[in-house]
Amino acid sequence: QAKRKGRNTWQWYRGGGAKSTRDSVLLRNELQKALETNQFTVYYQPLVDAVSGKIRSVEALVRWNHPERGMVSPGDFIPLAESTGQIIPLGQWVLKHACQEIARLNENSERMLPVAVNISSLQFLREDFLANVDKALEESGLPPQFLELEVTESVLLDGAEPVIALMQSLNKRGIHVAIDDFGTGFSSLSYLRDLPTHKVKLDRSFINKTLTDRRTAAIVQGVITMAHHMDMVVVAEGIETVEEQNDLVRRNCDLLQGYRFSKPVPLEVLKALPDRLPVE
Ligand code: C2E
Ligand code: MG
Ligand code: MG
Ligand code: MG
Repeated sequence: QAKRKGRNTWQWYRGGGAKSTRDSVLLRNELQKALETNQFTVYYQPLVDAVSGKIRSVEALVRWNHPERGMVSPGDFIPLAESTGQIIPLGQWVLKHACQEIARLNENSERMLPVAVNISSLQFLREDFLANVDKALEESGLPPQFLELEVTESVLLDGAEPVIALMQSLNKRGIHVAIDDFGTGFSSLSYLRDLPTHKVKLDRSFINKTLTDRRTAAIVQGVITMAHHMDMVVVAEGIETVEEQNDLVRRNCDLLQGYRFSKPVPLEVLKALPDRLPVE
């Protein structure tokens, strides 16, 4: 993707941040500047009811609107932001911004949409996280039941106890936590049992294989059935085709998300989406 390799540019490197130490220093400086000059923006992707196609909530996904490079995907900068600690101010900005935008959207429309914000493990486990969530809600006026947080299984790396305690505090406020990218981390069944969470999001890498691979299909069906027995809601991420949609509907998945319905879009485009997205 890097077209120019001048002294002041760094190489895009999908999934791994910058390519070399020098590049990562440059990227880190650019991230700093981007934070200071408001180059970030948030896109929203709907989650639809598997049966009716009605939009039930949206996921907030950060974008970097780079002055020269255009819209940059999080895969290109989140890993580095995590390694430099810049994910903390960035993550807090996304939380605040998404709460504000969705609170305003809900005030001016008949449909009330909850928003899900991705939270890096580093951010989630910080002492001031809960206070920051409270602040974002207070400043935006978004009711806590309209905020959801998405964390991945990596949040459990240093043990489950602090995570469970925090999730309980969040739940008490009415804020739900979903397990994102489920199945790709060190998914342990005891974690799934012990975490006070109400939603699992099956990773896209499973969804696009259920139709062709019996073992994947068995895992997907198993997770859906198991989660339902634990009163959890299951989301399928990355639905691109009607065949995938029909397959997940048949397997009793609750919510669907993917390009089949809508790509992540800016707030203005989200506003104009119909209440229902294609169901066949
Ligand atoms: P995620 O939370 O699992 O988000 C889903 C990703 O899948 C998004 O990529 C979305 O655009 C993409 N996606 C959705 N439907 C489809 C589909 O049908 N096909 C395909 N091929 N892709 C689909 P995106 O926006 O590039 O974000 C990538 C990851 O970056 C996210 O994965 C999340 O882990 C992270 N991320 C995004 N925003 C934030 C943020 O504000 N904070 C943190 N900590 N991480 C974020
Ligand atoms: Mg997510
Ligand atoms: Mg995900
Ligand atoms: Mg994913």
